[in-house]
Amino acid sequence: MDFGIPEEEKMIVEGLQRFNDQVSVPLEKAHHELFNNGRYTYDEDGREVPKVQELKRQVRMEAAKAGYYTIILPKELGGGGRGALTTFNVWELLNSAYGPEYELPHLSVSHWAQGPGPFLLGLKDPYRSEILPSLSSGEKSAAFCLTEPDAGSDAWNMKTCAVRDGDDWVINGTKQWMGNGPYADYLIVFAITNPELAAARRGGISCFFVDAKSPGFSTSVIRIWNLIGGIHGILSFSDVRVPHSHLVGELGQGFRQAISQVSIGRLMNTARCVGLSQWALRKATKYSQERIAFNAPISANQGISFQLADCAIELYAAKCMGLHLAYLIDKGERAVKETAMAKAYSTEACFRIFDRAIQVFGGMGVTNEVGLFKGMAVARTTRIADGASEILRRTIAQELFRGNLD
Ligand SMILES: Cc1cc2nc3c(=O)[nH]c(=O)nc-3n(C[C@H](O)[C@H](O)[C@H](O)COP(=O)(O)OP(=O)(O)OC[C@H]3O[C@@H](n4cnc5c(N)ncnc54)[C@H](O)[C@@H]3O)c2cc1C
Repeated sequence: MDFGIPEEEKMIVEGLQRFNDQVSVPLEKAHHELFNNGRYTYDEDGREVPKVQELKRQVRMEAAKAGYYTIILPKELGGGGRGALTTFNVWELLNSAYGPEYELPHLSVSHWAQGPGPFLLGLKDPYRSEILPSLSSGEKSAAFCLTEPDAGSDAWNMKTCAVRDGDDWVINGTKQWMGNGPYADYLIVFAITNPELAAARRGGISCFFVDAKSPGFSTSVIRIWNLIGGIHGILSFSDVRVPHSHLVGELGQGFRQAISQVSIGRLMNTARCVGLSQWALRKATKYSQERIAFNAPISANQGISFQLADCAIELYAAKCMGLHLAYLIDKGERAVKETAMAKAYSTEACFRIFDRAIQVFGGMGVTNEVGLFKGMAVARTTRIADGASEILRRTIAQELFRGNLD
């Protein structure tokens, strides 16, 4: 599909694919068992073994040297300063070209919450200059710590608090669901600093940049989708001391910061689901033309070809929404309603597309070999992470009632 994407954007995407074809994919193929057999991927506690972490770091660092890892990072932070359109294009490419089959290519562009991201603009020097090089080079990684056991969709309900003690803040609380949480070197932690304002939902939540080596910090792995290990964590803070100079942004303004970061995640997830849908549709279309039943390719049956057509319709709609959203963000608009609509639609459509693709594949569709179930699990998860579909519909309805009807 040609969407009139500027030549410069196409060159970035082609270069990124070349990088991954030449670096990440051969590396992952050389360690196939390590990435595809949970017995080798994880240790007894469900953590990725050091070799997996080492290979991920290697890809991040090589991608950083090649200029892709920080391509979206603001120029003030030494990044490429590319905007929402590039964000959409690179995440679409990574998922369309490598789908759920490969893990390492997905590390070649910094994830907004797990590598260097715009939140670093809120850190002051000299601390920012101290930590930025190791994050930007891909050597170190981060985790975004907003959600708690009793504060998911309703993040204002958080209990984690930070109390001032001299030049430090002392953090206590439990965070849950952090992607990269068990492995991160740095934690972007949201905590209540003014209980009255936080209870009134008028502020009082602040953001801190915490070194994961701090005494009092511990983490364990959350296992999902029947895997024996994982990348998500429960993070505990017991009297963790953080210098005041590690405050991110203004005191008490953390909630607004969190929402603006999550919005980047919603654009990224839109692109991810468009890419994954392309991957699944290509696979299902090809298979339907090759698989013979009743002496003819199964594609000759409308029961199959119409399912593929439905996938194509939804994919086109999701891509149009994602690209339009990127255009609005690059124009400087907040695009609250469009962000919610694009994320809700693309993630739900992606799940339906994987479901149909599995049906087209018949029994093969549920094998580990084809990888469709893995993609379906990713698609299913994106309907919850970075704002569940219901919360997005709540946001859309609020915008409608405010008069934002067009
Ligand atoms: C794989 C994964 C990765 C994640 N990564 C991170 C991360 O890196 N950092 C981080 O901070 N968090 C992360 N999260 C947390 C994620 O943002 C939350 O799971 C999400 O916001 C939903 O919160 P919850 O799970 O507590 O569900 P709940 O808030 O308990 O909601 C349960 C159900 O009720 C619905 N619901 C709640 N309120 C309403 C309402 N008012 N109207 C209608 N329906 C409602 C929800 O939509 C959902 O269907 C991750 C989650 C997952 C699953």
